[in-house]
Amino acid sequence: MAGTLIFSENPALVLELATAALEMDSGPVYALVINNGPQAEKLSNHGLAVLSVDEPGMSSFDTAGCAQAVAQTAGQKDLSMVLLSSDRRGKELAGRVAEAMHAGCLTDVKGFSLEGGQLAFTRNSLGGATLATQAIKTPAQVVAVSPRAFAPIAPTATGSIEAVKINVPASAVKLVETRSKAGDTVDLQAAERLVVVGQGVEDQSDLALVEQVAQALKAEIGCSKPVATDKKWYPEERIIGLSGKICKPALALILGVSGQVQFTVGVREAQVIVSVNNDENAFMNKIADYVLVADLKEALPELVRQLG
Ligand SMILES: Cc1cc2nc3c(=O)[nH]c(=O)nc-3n(C[C@H](O)[C@H](O)[C@H](O)COP(=O)(O)OP(=O)(O)OC[C@H]3O[C@@H](n4cnc5c(N)ncnc54)[C@H](O)[C@@H]3O)c2cc1C
Repeated sequence: MAGTLIFSENPALVLELATAALEMDSGPVYALVINNGPQAEKLSNHGLAVLSVDEPGMSSFDTAGCAQAVAQTAGQKDLSMVLLSSDRRGKELAGRVAEAMHAGCLTDVKGFSLEGGQLAFTRNSLGGATLATQAIKTPAQVVAVSPRAFAPIAPTATGSIEAVKINVPASAVKLVETRSKAGDTVDLQAAERLVVVGQGVEDQSDLALVEQVAQALKAEIGCSKPVATDKKWYPEERIIGLSGKICKPALALILGVSGQVQFTVGVREAQVIVSVNNDENAFMNKIADYVLVADLKEALPELVRQLG
């Protein structure tokens, strides 16, 4: 039993999972696609061997059904490793797939190494304060990989599409309506540049200046948790950190964030971190590449002037 099955509804994340699977080098790699002909086509054109399930009775929002589909497909192809994306839905799926396959399961995985011939996975632990290295002892393994932990696979020669038959009971839940989310739909994890608002931005009226800075840098705006949950200045989709998004931008400009570990876990892998804070001893400054010790009341207008 060897080989890897990768699955995510997000095609961009499938390409990242494919890189992880190929680097693990443990047999053939298949990408599962459920009820989505165009996605199967797209992934196969990218060079992946696609296993395509077409079960009109199955709803993609029904995680229990999806888990059965993943487990059954892995079983049919005798694949011992399942890689899923460690986003909200992928984490739920991981537990259910692991249960169906009697497999050990790890989520939030950021990398792996070979330890004595066995795969060992690195993942955040203790609220992001440490990186743990853990191995799964069961023959079947389910691993949910953090978005952006691996680069997307480059396109190769045309792959293939193979139809797979599975037997999943009709969903007990009926999809009544699908509506796109009104308002804010930013994808912070895909952003190349981030400007992050912390509680050091003291007045809501200063957000106009933050937006000008973000526009000048062509950056998306994220925030620390209290800025969204207590002040309600931004929606919770924009929280960076343990309870929000783990991001890996090229540049993170951090405005008035103290740098508690629950926050820093969300930006510490940025290529360049710039911290603006009036406290030179702020934890945030310790992981920043550049520090501006300044009051944001003065620094924000100056940043707008300099970048404008
Ligand atoms: C289980 C759990 C999960 C959590 N998850 C998250 C998470 O995902 N994301 C998150 O952000 N937090 C999270 N938190 C909260 C986290 O611990 C911190 O409380 C939070 O990050 C603090 O936000 P902050 O840095 O914006 O505010 P503060 O800690 O209040 O820091 C404000 C900073 O601004 C500076 N400052 C103040 N005034 C000025 C000024 N005029 N000019 C310049 N600088 C100034 C201060 O020196 C200070 O460093 C979590 C907490 C728990 C317990």
